[in-house]
Amino acid sequence: MGVKSCNRNGCENIMCDRYSSKYGYLCNSCYIEYIESTSDISISEFMNSTVTLTSNEIEERNDLFDQEFKLY
Ligand SMILES: [Zn+2]
Repeated sequence: MGVKSCNRNGCENIMCDRYSSKYGYLCNSCYIEYIESTSDISISEFMNSTVTLTSNEIEERNDLFDQEFKLY
């Protein structure tokens, strides 16, 4: 199994669950960012747009919220 690095511009994620034959791999955080985005952009525009948060920053936010809002 090779590395499945995200094809989004500037994304460092190498654990991608999603793949498009047209756009390549996409990680879950980019996927969520796109579907939750309020701006009306095409997939190719999104793939070329720069990632606003690094995977480390997303992980830090996840830890912060995960500690505050417990799964029950
Ligand atoms: Zn990504």
